[in-house]
Amino acid sequence: MNKAQFEALLEQVESSGAKLVAVSKSVDTHDVKGLAGFGQLDFGENRVQELERKIEGLAGISADYRRLRWHFIGRLQSNKINALLALHPALWQSCESVDAALSVEKRLSYELPCLVQINSANESSKQGASLNEAVDIYHEICERCKLLKPVGVMSIGANNSDESVIAKSFEDTYKVFESLQKHGAKICSMGMSDDWRIALKCGSNMLRLGRILW
Ligand SMILES: *Cc1c(COP(=O)(O)O)cnc(C)c1O
Repeated sequence: MNKAQFEALLEQVESSGAKLVAVSKSVDTHDVKGLAGFGQLDFGENRVQELERKIEGLAGISADYRRLRWHFIGRLQSNKINALLALHPALWQSCESVDAALSVEKRLSYELPCLVQINSANESSKQGASLNEAVDIYHEICERCKLLKPVGVMSIGANNSDESVIAKSFEDTYKVFESLQKHGAKICSMGMSDDWRIALKCGSNMLRLGRILW
C-alpha cells in the first residue's frame, strides 16, 4: 500500500471510531519501517521470537522506533512468557484463560493491559474462551491479578463464507464487551483483512489488519 492508499484506509477506520493495529507477522522489518513512516504506531505479532527479531532489527536502525507499540496477538507458550515480557508489549490481546493470566502475572514487574480472547464461533482450530466463560474469566483476572489488567475482549471472526455467520460471531463478542464496559472494558478488538467492514458495523473499535496493508 502506498501512503495515499494507507491514509484512505485509515480515514475509514478512524471515522468509525476504531484504531488500527498493523499485523506485521508475514512481512519484514523493512515493511514495518515503511508503515511507521506513514505514521502508524501500533503493530501486532503472533510469535514472540519474531516480535523480538523485529524490535531488535528496528532498534538497530534508529532509537526512534522505540515509540512503536507492539501488540501480542498469538498463542503464548509458557516457555516464551519471560521473553515476551522483556519486550514490554503494549497490549496482550490473546489471553484466553485464568491459568494463562496467572502465569503471566507471576512474572510481571510492570502493569500490562490484556484482552480476553473469545472463540465466539466455537471453532476447534482457534484458541480463546467460550462466549459463556468469557465474562467470568475477565472478572477472575481482575480479582486475582495486580499487574495484569483486563481492558476488553478480542475475537477472530467466524471462518465462514456467509457474512451473516461472521456478523453473528462479532455481534456475540460485542454483547460480551458491552456487559463488561461497566467493569472497565474499553477495547473490542475484532476484524481482519477479509471481514473488517463487518466488524466495524458490529461495534469493533480495534481492527487487526495484516495482508490488506502490504
Ligand atoms: C494474522 C492475524 C491477523 C491479521 O490477519 P489478516 O488476515 O492478514 O488481516 C489478525 N489477528 C490475528 C490474531 C492474526 O493472527
